[in-house]
Amino acid sequence: MKQFLYRLRQMIVVAMRSRNGQDALAWLSYVLALVAFLLYTLLRNYLFYILFLVFAIYALFRSFSKNIPKRYQENQKFLQLTAKPRKRLKLLRLQWKDRKTHRYFICGVCGQMIRVPKGKGSIEVRCPKCGATAQKRT
Ligand SMILES: [Zn+2]
Repeated sequence: MKQFLYRLRQMIVVAMRSRNGQDALAWLSYVLALVAFLLYTLLRNYLFYILFLVFAIYALFRSFSKNIPKRYQENQKFLQLTAKPRKRLKLLRLQWKDRKTHRYFICGVCGQMIRVPKGKGSIEVRCPKCGATAQKRT
């Protein structure tokens, strides 16, 4: 059995060689396919089933594609377009993680994220990137 699993793993490794594999756009497609499938099971609307098929097939197409430069370009474009919301999401995650010890601000001039310790009262926060200052309550 152990040898069978080892051989199976080797076969998968060989099959995935020179394939695009999982990238951010493929993962998003998988997640959207899962959401569409859940909505289909809950609402029994065939539109969601079609969406599920479209996203699942696109994700599989991306994962098994051999045209890696083209898939790389598409993924880079996707990452570029979603850079701002991903940065915002990262900020929210950090804010939640450090909610008891720190406060986060975004510089009004350059957009730099600034982290300051909590509980210091009203302080002047200075942006490390552009040097702009602002009065903030911590
Ligand atoms: Zn700044």
